[in-house]
Amino acid sequence: MSQKVYQGEEIEVYFDAEKCIHSGICVKGMPEVFDLKKRPWVNTSGTSADKITAHIDICPSGALTYKWHTRPADNEIEEE
Ligand code: SF4
Repeated sequence: MSQKVYQGEEIEVYFDAEKCIHSGICVKGMPEVFDLKKRPWVNTSGTSADKITAHIDICPSGALTYKWHTRPADNEIEEE
């Protein structure tokens, strides 16, 4: 498994290189966060966590995913 984790204050971002189809959507659309010339290449403080998670949601392969530290996961929200 080749998944890497990038820690941020509000979120942690996961990247699975085996799933990436190299569309370039992440680096072209949000270079302040996703920059292959930098190490680490994911800067979780490059913009707001809301913007980063919205951009990760359009990754076509599912290679990029995230987990909130500050919000419950969907499966942790109980229905009333
Ligand atoms: S958007 Fe997703 S599939 Fe495209 S390059 Fe980035 S990680 Fe890979």
